[in-house]
Amino acid sequence: MMLIAFSACQKEEFNALDDEVPPPNSAVSNTPLVTRSVEDSIPTILGDVRVNPFKVSTMTQAWNALYGEHQHYNQLPVTHRYIKLEPQDTAEFKSLISSGIPFLDFPLDRKVIQMGDHYPQAAPAEGEFPDFYTVLADEAIVPITHYTVLEELVIPPMDAPLTATAFFIAGDTATYLQELLGPDYNPEDPASTGNCPETCPNYPNCELFPESFGCSGPPVWNGDCTPESPDWPDCLVHYDDEEDELNACGCPIPNDKRKPAGCIQVEDVQMNNMMLGVEDVKVTWWNGWFTFKTTSTDGAGCWSIDRHRERGKAYMWVTFQNSRAMLRGFVGNTAKLWRLLLPVTDYRGQLGGGSYHNIQIDYNMWNNQGGSDHRTWSASTVMNGIHHFHREAQNDGINTPPSGLDIYLTANRRDGIALMTSQLPQQTVNDLVGQGLFSSGLLPYIISNNSILAAVPDVAIGCNFQNADQQWSVTQHELAHTSHFTNTGAIFWGRMGLATLNARIATGSPWGDATVNDAGLIAICESWAEHLEHVYTDRAYGVNTSSGVTWEDELEEIRNDSPNHVPIGIHFDLIDNQNDLNDACDRGIGGACGPIVDNVAGFTNGQLFSLLDANTDDPDIYRARILNELLPGSGIMAADIDALFNSY
Ligand SMILES: [Zn+2]
Repeated sequence: MMLIAFSACQKEEFNALDDEVPPPNSAVSNTPLVTRSVEDSIPTILGDVRVNPFKVSTMTQAWNALYGEHQHYNQLPVTHRYIKLEPQDTAEFKSLISSGIPFLDFPLDRKVIQMGDHYPQAAPAEGEFPDFYTVLADEAIVPITHYTVLEELVIPPMDAPLTATAFFIAGDTATYLQELLGPDYNPEDPASTGNCPETCPNYPNCELFPESFGCSGPPVWNGDCTPESPDWPDCLVHYDDEEDELNACGCPIPNDKRKPAGCIQVEDVQMNNMMLGVEDVKVTWWNGWFTFKTTSTDGAGCWSIDRHRERGKAYMWVTFQNSRAMLRGFVGNTAKLWRLLLPVTDYRGQLGGGSYHNIQIDYNMWNNQGGSDHRTWSASTVMNGIHHFHREAQNDGINTPPSGLDIYLTANRRDGIALMTSQLPQQTVNDLVGQGLFSSGLLPYIISNNSILAAVPDVAIGCNFQNADQQWSVTQHELAHTSHFTNTGAIFWGRMGLATLNARIATGSPWGDATVNDAGLIAICESWAEHLEHVYTDRAYGVNTSSGVTWEDELEEIRNDSPNHVPIGIHFDLIDNQNDLNDACDRGIGGACGPIVDNVAGFTNGQLFSLLDANTDDPDIYRARILNELLPGSGIMAADIDALFNSY
């Protein structure tokens, strides 16, 4: 489960385990966590409550004023609900997060004066969560039990005459014009000339939509967009979905400069500092009122928000969450429980100025350890590594990792662990805690120092790397464990967790040595993860490695992790069609080198993986099953299998 991700030539470093201890500057806090923030750095500041033009009554009045003579409504159908989310416990908060719905920690009916990192809410009792706010489509299911519907809404597109009329009725045309016209709007000089002065009955629609409105008289009515229309209320405006140019990232640029679109890329220093698209991360867009839009990047890091045109101020976030995994971590030592549970999110700030169709985000190599540059580069690199693992696993015919993995990124470590905590029987989790999990150093410091069981992730991945191939290698290793987990089940994996914990306590190393309890189990699990780590990283990077040696060549030269323990190279030797020319060496202290008698070739990762179920808890059983299950008909001789295993 634990990975010590150094290449063989750096063996002294990983044996020292020096990054197992928090570095002096990490200032681990001894203060118990509280769940509400009173001391975070930048508070969010809100203005007064605004008149809400999206209320059903106001919007109905606006509709009837515009179109009532053709089609009158006593009440327009509700399109959205403005909701206060009130999670009562960790489980409920986790369901809220995993649902992926957007939410903010401040009410949405007020203008944002300053967007901070927290909104000061009245301090509740310890263990409570703050209130959160969202807007959901009327038919959407609220993902938690405890919530309050604050208002039922009708939300037409912002630049529809219906919306303009509702703002006018609400007495807030100035705000509307500011929203719609952005920096072009001068409140000192409202449109008072031309054909649409404020005295017009149709003001401001005659100015904004002159094709449909004169100064007075009824607007154009063709009856083809009413609340009964299937695409109501989007049909109130025309969306131009054309695009013909590509931007520097290779992403299409919408013709409509008000359609939000762009690309998200990460620097890969191994690939000549190439910028690679960040695949399948979430983009959340908020227009400052009651409209949230979310989308995800494609394989090239391109994203666009369909059926939305922005005007005026908007806010954007990038969140490292998708159906495969949620990445969290990189929180400071003053973090509150709920912040520990949130996915890594990059607030991109307030956008405005009229053009939204080519927003380029580059996550470059980090300089400030633990800072936002580190957080976004690492999360991007790990996320791309996760997608790589999935693709390679599918190519090889092995199980992909479970969906919805909860992964915690640590800023100052290089190791990882795949406890699969959320999948283990409660008794096993209790045993792990009882046997010293929180004092073992296996978990991220902020979680173990505060003994927060609710925040223990399925997987932790160290991110103290400034080389993409190394960051990918740790990711491949831990994902290999999670894939293996799906073949063994939770009982086996609970044993693996306990064996790792006990090895760590007994020897200082989570892999232990040949004498620790369940050494065979550790040997099978860690050798397989180390194997896929090297093979999959090699497939991505080839000769572009930070060490100068390919990940495959490195694998060829490793024998065991320590004498007679964790036969790292064995799986590749069962597959590859090459004799080992050099002796292979054990990695750890006291390790030796020796020749590998490799006259075996032709097995596949898929075949080997099929043997790695709950019955295979020792390299000897692995060998026996290869002989019994894979050998017949393969043309490979049993003596050669034995000679290979005996070389380890
Ligand atoms: Zn491992």
